[in-house]
Amino acid sequence: MEKRAEKRRIVVLVPFPALGHITPMIQLGQALQLKGFSITVAQGQCNQVCSSQTFFGFQFVTIPKSLPVSQLESLGLVEFLMKLNKTSEAKFKNCIAQLLQKQGSDIACIIYDELMYFSEAAAKEFKIPSVIFSTGSATNHVCGCVLSKFNAEKFLIDIEDPELQDKVVENLHPLRYKNLPISGMGPLDRFLEICKEVFNKRTASAVIINTTSCLERSSLSWLKQELRIPLYSIGPLHITSSANSSLLEQDRSCIEWLNKQKPRTVIYISFGSIAQMETKDVLEMAWGLCDSKQPFLWVIRLGSESLPEELSKMVSERGYIVQWAPQIEVLAHPALGGFWSHCGWNSTLESIVEGVPMICMPFNGEQKLNAMYIESVWRIGIQFQGEVEIGGVERAVKRLIVDDEGAEMRERAFVLKEKLKASVRSGGSSYNALDELVKCLATE
Ligand code: UDP
Repeated sequence: MEKRAEKRRIVVLVPFPALGHITPMIQLGQALQLKGFSITVAQGQCNQVCSSQTFFGFQFVTIPKSLPVSQLESLGLVEFLMKLNKTSEAKFKNCIAQLLQKQGSDIACIIYDELMYFSEAAAKEFKIPSVIFSTGSATNHVCGCVLSKFNAEKFLIDIEDPELQDKVVENLHPLRYKNLPISGMGPLDRFLEICKEVFNKRTASAVIINTTSCLERSSLSWLKQELRIPLYSIGPLHITSSANSSLLEQDRSCIEWLNKQKPRTVIYISFGSIAQMETKDVLEMAWGLCDSKQPFLWVIRLGSESLPEELSKMVSERGYIVQWAPQIEVLAHPALGGFWSHCGWNSTLESIVEGVPMICMPFNGEQKLNAMYIESVWRIGIQFQGEVEIGGVERAVKRLIVDDEGAEMRERAFVLKEKLKASVRSGGSSYNALDELVKCLATE
């Protein structure tokens, strides 16, 4: 009897196979592991989260013959998701059946990325509680819910109508129609279809969001009313999980370079793991950065070979290029003055947690939404407007690093940073929400 009481209950995690989704899922796993759960990650055979079977002290199970994530580019996100979810349902059920057959397997819950909604069928079949994990912002989740209704209730408004764009979405100030994250998602009818799948057909017992109330109070209260199931906002998870959750090799030589720079002078440029600038923009940016006379640390995933020799020489005099940086450590460095970002949600949270103001250059709809919040709601950054050209790049860097405007943003970012850190400390809203989630998982 005693031995059984010591056994840790299992939480099965089902991440979506893209770095920006896997990272927070791993952080969630680490946070739950610290609370006494045993973590099992279900990964697609062709989309391995990692090759080692005991990474982070987690166990891994394989969903066989899964749709490779390499097809994302050719299919587009919406068609990829439709196909992935259709082809994974039965295979994932088998996976869970096998896990349950293992002697003593005691699954407390299946927590799945909202995009991996096929997981719900296995949870239902084996009567295991399920929880949805939304790795983006609460406001993005609100948008998903709103968009799923456009489809379901056949609203007779054309959400692409130019006259509608500046109007506030009903009861959702400061969200305007133009902020709804639909750009870059392919044909609108198919996108609305997937929103319905992801946001409308839910039977899970709770939703977890990687955010905190001081960032998105109104979106969170809207969701609490709308979802009618418990909502746990437990972010930013990269603070809660405490351990390094990086899956890619980081070039730490940039920290030595940062150590040589003056406080708050360096602009850090990174567009995350997917977004890619066109070559002509990379060149304009390089010239503009050099002209700004500020030191810069730049993540170019394909390496600096793409720069012509003359420019490469100039860049290396003033800046430092890496293929993958230890981003959280970089943002925490005293030399950092600003972050030129694509505004992925993880990057946004990481920047705010370190009180670093931002230049926003979003690539897709969700990132545009985050950029709107950074500039207009939290007022800790500026949006880069128009084409990437030398003069514009230089001006944006100066506004953020040198001008009073930047200093004011830095002050506001500092205030927000303190609030965020307080939310994950004992008694804070995210700390309490994680405790409530754990209680709920332990008693299910
Ligand atoms: N990142 C990193 N090193 C880099 C660039 C990015 O560790 O050189 C990490 C960053 O800390 C963040 C993630 O990659 O956790 C990017 O996630 P985000 O949601 O910002 O963007 P995505 O990659 O999903 O577009």
